[in-house]
Formats: sequence, C-alpha cells, structure tokens
Amino acid sequence: EVDRLKTQFLSMASHELRTPLTAVSGFIQVAKRRIQKVTDQTDPNVDWKAETAKASETLELAQRQSRRLARLVDELLDVSRLQLGRVELHLGEMDLVTTLRDTIDRMRLLTSTHQFEFETEATSATVRADADRVDQVFENLIGNAVKYSPSGSRIGVILRRAGDDVHIAITDQGIGIDRDELDRIFNIFYRSPDPRAGHVGGLGLGLYISREIVTRLGGRLWAESAATGGSTFHVSLPLAEHATPTAPATSPAGATRA
Ligand code: ADP
Repeated sequence: EVDRLKTQFLSMASHELRTPLTAVSGFIQVAKRRIQKVTDQTDPNVDWKAETAKASETLELAQRQSRRLARLVDELLDVSRLQLGRVELHLGEMDLVTTLRDTIDRMRLLTSTHQFEFETEATSATVRADADRVDQVFENLIGNAVKYSPSGSRIGVILRRAGDDVHIAITDQGIGIDRDELDRIFNIFYRSPDPRAGHVGGLGLGLYISREIVTRLGGRLWAESAATGGSTFHVSLPLAEHATPTAPATSPAGATRA
C-alpha cells in the first residue's frame, strides 16, 4: 500500500510541479516578446504604453504561478521536516481574533470568487502558539474551502471561546466529504476519489500538515460534513490563560511575578 501511494504521489507531484513551471516559463516568454517589441522600435505602430502594461500583466501571472510552485515545495519540505521531527515551533502569545480577521482580509483581496464572513462575539482569544504556523493552518483550511466549493458561494468562519479552549469553525457550501472519508482526508497523500475534486490541483498534504501542527500546539483539528453537502473544519486550541504552564506555576520565595 505504501509503495502504491508512493508511486501515485510521485506521478501526482511531478504533474503538480510541472504545470505551474510550464506556465511560468510560458508567461515569461510572452512578456519578453512584448518588451522586445517595444525596445526594438521597428514597428512605428506599436503602442509602447499598452505593450508594456500587457507585459507587466503577464509577469504578474508568472509570479502567481511561481507562488503556487513555492507553496507546493514548502509543503513537501514541511512533510519531510515533520516526519524527521525537525519542525521548530516559535511559541509566543497571539490573538486569534486579530489573526483570523487579517487572514480573511487577505483572502478577500486574493479571491474575488467567494464571499467570506467572519463572526465572533469575543473581543480577543489569546493562545500560545507559533503565529506563522497558525496562519498556515487557517490559510490552508480557508484555501481548501475555496478550492472545493463553487464560485459565488459563502465561506463562513466562526470563532467562539468555549471553556478553556478557543474553537474555530470554517464552513463552506462545497462538494462535502463522505462520512467514511472524514478522518482519512488527514492522512498523508490522501486525495478524495470524488470526481468533482479531480480537476482541483493538490498533493494531499495540506490537511496532514495542518493536523500535525495543531496537534503539536496542543489542539485538535477535525472535519464534519452534512449529507446535504458542504463541509466544516473545526480547530480547537487551548486559551493561553488556561494552558498548562511549562514553567513551575509558583514563584520561588521572595521573587515577584511579572
Ligand atoms: P489537497 O487539497 O492538496 O488535495 P489536502 O490535504 O488539503 O490536500 O486535502 C485532502 C483531501 O481532502 C482533498 O483532496 C479533498 O478531497 C478533501 N478536502 C479537503 N478540504 C475539503 C473541503 N473543504 N471540502 C471537500 N473536500 C475537502
């Protein structure tokens, strides 16, 4: 089974990496031709302003594809680091209300196809975590919600304080997940056989990485899906004020607490 998964992964990975690479190379070639047209000045009818603007748009497309490529390579690096136990977490206190607001604002700028809604009654929810890694998890879950749901649909993010934890739910109106796949989707390399997910690119690593990160931060990540469609991904993390302290809770005699 591992051999089969490895072979399947290698062919998928080559394809996934090759596609943006071909696009980057193609876009650069087109941009080069446009710039050449302007610099050559052999054709007096060339509108150099329009040609330069078009070249710049083409380079923007190349940049977008190279970001996609970088994300895939980062995922591959993350997997090997996680498996070798070499992921360093840089812990610090962070407020998840602010983090989620920022992530969603960023997604709104990058994705015009979906409507994002963020709902919370909490003014803050401080956790002790690695800010970059937490951001990576939310980006991945919201990114999946976009990938696996139709254009124009709504993606809702709800944050609630629940006892000692903060609970975040990300809900989409997409293709949903079969009951027997709800846990398997977190396995390394797992991609659903659902044909509606087939055209969407991916290596089946994002959820594996996200669950590893959340678990290492002392939290939980799980999925839920209604028979009528749509999925919800839940993240639960211990609030900093309730987290088990790693240092002795009592101060040495005579010492003052910060
Ligand atoms: P990738 O998206 O690169 O395939 P992930 O690990 O992020 O990898 O997801 C694994 C699989 O879980 C996906 O291939 C897809 O089948 C399923 N999945 C993830 N998120 C969703 C979602 N929001 N709705 C439906 N299916 C999902």
